[in-house]
Amino acid sequence: MNITFYNTLSRKKENFIPIDRDEVRIYSCGPTVYNYAHIGNFRTYIFMDTLRRVLKYNGYKLKHVMNITDVGHLESDADEGEDKMIKAAKKENKDPYEIARFYEKAFFKDLEKLNIDVPDIIARATEHIPDMIEYVKEIIKNGYGYETSKGIYFDISKLDKYPVLSNNSLDEQIAGARVEVDSEKRNPYDFAIWIKASDNHIMKWNSPWGLSYPGWHLECSTMGQKYLGNQFDIHTGGIDHIPTHHENEIAQSKGRTGKIPARYWLHCEFLQVDGGKMSKSLGNVYTITDLEEIGVEPLAYKMFCFTAHYRTKLNFTFESIKSAQKSLQRLREGYLKHLESNNNIVSSNEKIKEYRFKFLKAINDDMNMPVAMSVLWDIIKEKEKSKIFAELILEFDQVLGLDLKKIKKQEKNNLNIPKEIEELIEQREKARKEKNWIVSDKIREEIKEKGYIIKDTKQGFELERIEK
Ligand code: AMP
Ligand code: ZN
Repeated sequence: MNITFYNTLSRKKENFIPIDRDEVRIYSCGPTVYNYAHIGNFRTYIFMDTLRRVLKYNGYKLKHVMNITDVGHLESDADEGEDKMIKAAKKENKDPYEIARFYEKAFFKDLEKLNIDVPDIIARATEHIPDMIEYVKEIIKNGYGYETSKGIYFDISKLDKYPVLSNNSLDEQIAGARVEVDSEKRNPYDFAIWIKASDNHIMKWNSPWGLSYPGWHLECSTMGQKYLGNQFDIHTGGIDHIPTHHENEIAQSKGRTGKIPARYWLHCEFLQVDGGKMSKSLGNVYTITDLEEIGVEPLAYKMFCFTAHYRTKLNFTFESIKSAQKSLQRLREGYLKHLESNNNIVSSNEKIKEYRFKFLKAINDDMNMPVAMSVLWDIIKEKEKSKIFAELILEFDQVLGLDLKKIKKQEKNNLNIPKEIEELIEQREKARKEKNWIVSDKIREEIKEKGYIIKDTKQGFELERIEK
């Protein structure tokens, strides 16, 4: 079955055809490691992970690179203002490298909690400075770069078209954005590829242009092409990357090779909080740890992300995330019912085929996860319980990454059972040991009233939540 992706470059859904038949080459813009990544950032990494999983489910091998921005970047996307890394270093009174490694580690820990597969190649900007210098030299040699007292700038007037990704024309873009007034620049929208460092700038390197450091866009151009070649298949990021970061990456690449570096540009829409922007000043920037502290598992957040298509805005509220936690619980319990049934067959093999077809159709339709999840729920809710359905759920979980294979029988009794129910179970067990059947039956009824059914088995007992 064909895979289709919405390509920001063509502004339409396209059939996905990789450059090499078997291996898909992907570049993902990674984190700037000067602070803990927030749940909005992780929406974009969950989308990146789903993309990986969908391609793998379709039989492709991957070569996937993600960068770690550990050289700044500057406050605005246009590489102006203060360096984010250095600002954090000053604030925390630490070396910028210490800051970068600390938050990088925290980032990977969160990825693990979210069961996000780490891309094959993790490229730190600070470890690719010589490659970046070579890249700049080539841009200059090809006539697209020029030196000013501030650094090396990219001359956008040399391009056949700019911008190519964003809907805006350059006029609209110029009107809508703040551009630094700089009389040395040839065109107002020329941007810094390489920046000369002031005396008190901490992260700087020797270069043909003196002590200096790379612009943010340069690192992605350089590292993407170093590992994936001058043209690769897919480039991912959040929608905020479209107008400047990715636009300028494309410009640089055209300046060096004449080509747009990736064929498909995929962008994840923003997560909003309470219908608005997440921002420090509003005090609504949440991390994965914040969610855990209120009893929400990281995987419940992943499931929450699947409630919306990646190209639509998703609104985070505490009510909705708590309901995602309950859904995750129900999903696990439903999966266990299939797994634990004594039935090894299904009455209709056609059903399995149909479910597989619907699931594949959904994920291959530009990663339509809400539809894919509805197929999963249909299997969970099947009246007929069967181990075959459990296997199918696990197969789909290769794409969902909800780690269902870790849910084992004996864990069922630990699935977020309220304390009062646990206490009632204990009292009932005691009554049963004493062969006090009247008390044990009474407690069973009490447990039922509180929403759980307790069933006695040879091994002990099983507890099920009554589905509403
Ligand atoms: P940064 O570390 O700031 O470069 O951001 C890391 C990734 O998170 C980038 O791909 C951003 O586009 C993305 N991102 C930032 N804020 C949000 C948000 N609220 N929702 C979804 N993605 C976001
Ligand atoms: Zn990037």
